[in-house]
Amino acid sequence: MSGKQKVVVLGAGPAGISAAWRLTRLGYPVTVLEKDEAVGGMGRTISLGDYKVDFGPHTFHIRETAESKQILRTITPFFGENPLTLVRGTRVLLRGKEYVYPLEMLQVLFGVNPLLSALIIWDYGLATIKSMFAPAKTEDSFEEWGVRNLGRTLYDLCFGIYSARVWGLPTTQISSKQAQRVAKLNLKNIILRTLGIKADPTTYFTKYFYPRAGISQLYEGMAAEIRAAGNQILLGSPAIRVEREGERVSQVVYATSGGDKTIACDVLLSTLPLPALVGMVSPPLPESVSRHADRLRYRSLKLIYIALKRPRLTDYHWIYLLDEHFRVNRMSEQKNVSPDMVPKDRTILCIELSLWKDEPLWKASDEEIYRLALRDLMKMGYGVTESEVDAYYIAEIPTAYPVYELNFEDHLIPVLDGVHQMRNLMTLGRHGLFLNNSMDDNVGLGFQVADHIEQQGADGRVWVAEMLEFMKLRFAGK
Ligand SMILES: Cc1cc2nc3c(=O)[nH]c(=O)nc-3n(C[C@H](O)[C@H](O)[C@H](O)COP(=O)(O)OP(=O)(O)OC[C@H]3O[C@@H](n4cnc5c(N)ncnc54)[C@H](O)[C@@H]3O)c2cc1C
Repeated sequence: MSGKQKVVVLGAGPAGISAAWRLTRLGYPVTVLEKDEAVGGMGRTISLGDYKVDFGPHTFHIRETAESKQILRTITPFFGENPLTLVRGTRVLLRGKEYVYPLEMLQVLFGVNPLLSALIIWDYGLATIKSMFAPAKTEDSFEEWGVRNLGRTLYDLCFGIYSARVWGLPTTQISSKQAQRVAKLNLKNIILRTLGIKADPTTYFTKYFYPRAGISQLYEGMAAEIRAAGNQILLGSPAIRVEREGERVSQVVYATSGGDKTIACDVLLSTLPLPALVGMVSPPLPESVSRHADRLRYRSLKLIYIALKRPRLTDYHWIYLLDEHFRVNRMSEQKNVSPDMVPKDRTILCIELSLWKDEPLWKASDEEIYRLALRDLMKMGYGVTESEVDAYYIAEIPTAYPVYELNFEDHLIPVLDGVHQMRNLMTLGRHGLFLNNSMDDNVGLGFQVADHIEQQGADGRVWVAEMLEFMKLRFAGK
């Protein structure tokens, strides 16, 4: 491996492990530092008693693009025997009824009462006329986007109440860029799609790929090849300081059970949350960079797993809970993604609760959080009773979702520019770019950064310019 630059990667999630795997293939000496005791980051599988579950089922999305198909071809060998190809099985619960998601308009219009249907259509007409005369703005709020495209009634029912709960903010304070996944959604498209005149917008994933034993199979497979080639993945080894000499990172200090250690690098790849990375740099970056980094906030998540003494509760992968009487956001059933992970006579649900890390509920006992989730589960109308609960488990993700507050890019861009003043640093991944994207993107970015280093060298400023273009596409829902 001599002659190639020594690369240190921070984080063994989908982005970091994919970068390390591709660099290993290209012959680079690589060391991955990972805080946790396993690879996979948020895309990992954990064992809870007899149950194997992801951090919320993590299916690999299949986009109908050449890049996506190439990524899929590369990773398929890691999915083991008989991988599963799943057709999206998502529902929303609205006013006590299940609806297919992406929304099928006729189902909604005929499902709700006639008065509400009339209001949905009337409001949409009104919003369309208003938006024809509205002055152009640099950035819309999520609410403005929603009301313009769906009309007030449908927006409130299907997005407004739910989004305010997920993000912990009024939707007037959230950027319309949060709508990236559903950017092409509007009432006209929903109706055309329902009538079969128009296909799903490309941003909807309709097919997923999944290894039978859980998503970790992918990342553990990559990790095994990295190690077999003589490179290192150091688990339980959080980076605590990034030391620089002027414009170059020279070494990283990381903690281990045996005390702090230091590793030198020619190139540093970071998938860590940007505010955490900024806080680790020594000597510190200019004060303005930390000030902007402090304005980038994350929504935290509690995952409440409830195992039931029955073979199955629903036929769906995910159910979104739109009504305001719910406190939790979403429920998934791992068995419907892969039946091999759950005992035949049992099922396990994963219920998601979004919180701010500084609100009291984040510190509530597991029992309290479980009770809150159980109350909502009982409200869903599937007839669950407490006596059939086999066990419950709670997991936490402190930095689950980057929050796109209005004008968040005024803070994000100075931070990305600031950290990439260190020329041999390149950030990537969901947290390294503050980009609410999925695993296929992050695995793709891991491959892309490795190819970039091989073909163009490691210059953070060139990399960040490439990433800003990529992010623009994602913000526009492309
Ligand atoms: C509930 C939920 C469900 C999701 N479902 C799906 C899905 O079905 N399909 C999909 O494609 N995507 C899904 N996603 C998104 C997916 O999880 C992310 O896109 C992906 O995990 C991001 O990969 P990453 O490598 O960028 O970040 P991460 O997965 O967050 O990895 C970052 C890694 O850095 C490590 N780290 C942090 N601090 C340090 C430190 N100081 N030193 C060393 N290591 C450190 C972390 O432990 C972690 O392993 C979901 C996300 C959530 C929250």
